[in-house]
Amino acid sequence: MSQTEHTILVTGGAGYIGSHAVLALKKAGYSVIVLDNLVYGHRELVEDVLKTELVIGDTNDRTLLDHLFATRQIAAVMHFAAYAYVGESVTDPGKYYRNNVVGTLTLLEAMVAASIKKFVFSSTCATYGIPDLIPIPEHHPQNPINPYGASKLMVEKILADFDVAHELKAVCFRYFNAAGADPDGLLGEDHNPETHLIPLVLLTALGRRDEISIFGTDYPTVDGTCVRDYIHVSDLATAHVLGLEYLLKGGESQAFNLGNGLGFSVREVIEAARKITGQVIPVQECDRRPGDPPALVGSSDKARMLLGWQPQYTDLSSLMAHAWSWHQKRHT
Ligand code: UDP
Repeated sequence: MSQTEHTILVTGGAGYIGSHAVLALKKAGYSVIVLDNLVYGHRELVEDVLKTELVIGDTNDRTLLDHLFATRQIAAVMHFAAYAYVGESVTDPGKYYRNNVVGTLTLLEAMVAASIKKFVFSSTCATYGIPDLIPIPEHHPQNPINPYGASKLMVEKILADFDVAHELKAVCFRYFNAAGADPDGLLGEDHNPETHLIPLVLLTALGRRDEISIFGTDYPTVDGTCVRDYIHVSDLATAHVLGLEYLLKGGESQAFNLGNGLGFSVREVIEAARKITGQVIPVQECDRRPGDPPALVGSSDKARMLLGWQPQYTDLSSLMAHAWSWHQKRHT
């Protein structure tokens, strides 16, 4: 079968990481259908920028899924649709378990009923909780400290059981901190509300915010601020195509970390943004944000070795430069 004969259903394809994955799939020659409820996704991204078929609907809608799977030749599903605000998951866990766990279960049951058995899943380093070991390997214990991470871990466990019972093969990608934007400027990060560090720093550089808050300056890290592993969204998207191809060739279920293997503190991120933008970026030192581990840095050796993944944009400055171009275009 050639790639054009493979139609891939991408749930959450109107969101930040999902839209970059759609772009990568199309560049690789796949035919794509996006399923998105547009709660956080952007319709115009799919229809006007990516020029891709959009089905507006929810992964909790079994009737819609059954119809889609019965009428279209879908070879595999890439599942990005999820709520992903850690803080909100603490205050409204039911919303996270219903959408991220129940919605995914509905999707998986519909797939099994339609004999579609290849699944690429957006998991997260938040499933590890507070790590004992840095860089974190995939076999590290998973003890999430917030409902968002717990909801993703529950799906990983459901997938293991569905493999045993139904031979549904899944690649779970545990992302570290997705950041940056399509280097050609087609796509970028546009959350509402925005809570992530890099876009907030750049919005401050643009003068759309007065200052950037630093959440916690007393962590046991290089400069007291949290350390994270920032991975370029286009490199994440490439990994998804490789994960899909691995499954289509008959690969067994696997979990992979996707990160850079390099940690940067909040202060280092702000300094990098000052250099790239040339702007003054005022900061406000604040208390710690609940649910934040001090440091999360992953080892992605497994994805490099088994999938042949080679991230292209491993330095913070190119990631920041792509994000800066996108935000300048988007907001000025
Ligand atoms: N952070 C911060 N100020 C902000 C937003 C985030 O200091 O306005 C910190 C946050 O505490 C974390 C890091 O930046 O240590 C990355 O946070 P982000 O929300 O971007 O991603 P997360 O690590 O939560 O997935």
